[in-house]
Amino acid sequence: MHLARFPRVHLAHLPTPLEPMDRLSEALGVELWIKRDDCTGMSTGGNKTRKLEFLFGEAIAQGADMVMTQGATQSNHARQTAAFAAKLGLGCHILLEDRTGYNNANYNHNGNVLLDHLHGATTEKFPGGHNMVDEMEKAAQAKRAEGHKVYVIPGGGSNPTGALGYVNCAFELLGQANDRGLKIDRVVHATGSSGTQAGLVTGFCAMNSGVPVLGVGTRAAQPKQEQMVFDLACKTADKLGCPGAVKREDVMANTDYVGEGYGLPTESGIEAIRMFAELEGILLDPVYSAKGAAGLIDLARNGAFEGERVVFLHTGGSAGLFGYDFAFDHADRWVNI
Ligand SMILES: *Cc1c(COP(=O)(O)O)cnc(C)c1O
Repeated sequence: MHLARFPRVHLAHLPTPLEPMDRLSEALGVELWIKRDDCTGMSTGGNKTRKLEFLFGEAIAQGADMVMTQGATQSNHARQTAAFAAKLGLGCHILLEDRTGYNNANYNHNGNVLLDHLHGATTEKFPGGHNMVDEMEKAAQAKRAEGHKVYVIPGGGSNPTGALGYVNCAFELLGQANDRGLKIDRVVHATGSSGTQAGLVTGFCAMNSGVPVLGVGTRAAQPKQEQMVFDLACKTADKLGCPGAVKREDVMANTDYVGEGYGLPTESGIEAIRMFAELEGILLDPVYSAKGAAGLIDLARNGAFEGERVVFLHTGGSAGLFGYDFAFDHADRWVNI
């Protein structure tokens, strides 16, 4: 498990802190810790930073002068890709898919979209349900015809190269826990395009750590989500030279907290945002980390983590809050004393 064999740019702020969440633990009756991957750096941080270190490493090794990627309008992955391209002096074009149908001005122009543009990326909008993989290939061909050397990054940065970033996170987290004598019973986090969970599971399995990972879904139904994670974990293990390290039963996803669909806020997610903000001073986002935290909170309340020490991996996303301000009613916070 020698990650230094793979090309990488070192831009993340690592290691990210591992902190206790005392007030939330008390409220839920479970010992909860948080791994602060919302603090990875690069344009307000988040989980894509670790993946992009390896993806941009490969892009530069291949001599690319521009990158292209795709995501939802309020994509955190797009924003972090734009920041990496800016830092490394590469061009960046982003294809954004309208997966929510929101006409709201902040949703379409603020939050991550504003930051994409501030980092100098160009964006292009597509209706929901479009074949974005085909569109991206077409756009890449057009830029290649102009003489550009284009490196295409899949949505969410989720391929075996990107997943290496979360193999590294598994090493990092286990090292922190070992140094402090902190036995970890479970890791919980929001899962989407699957690279985060695939990398974590591969790293934990390859080290024979016995740390189970629960992915809380944000889009797909459970069978599809688990299959996506498992397929990518197998490919990641192959890339690392430890084929077969991950077994199907090592991949667990709970997709009960998706709500009406991807990018559509849920009541339990909004409650999670308020609880983390009011009890821990930590910001979640409505698309991913809030749904992950909603699963954490509900399962904790239902006794699923009885006697366990659980680490919530915070995958970031707070920039998206400014595209979703309409989801929060906070008029009652204005008071006259
Ligand atoms: C992309 C993202 C996720 C999901 O991670 P995947 O690797 O795509 O499964 C979770 N949280 C946030 C904030 C994200 O931006």
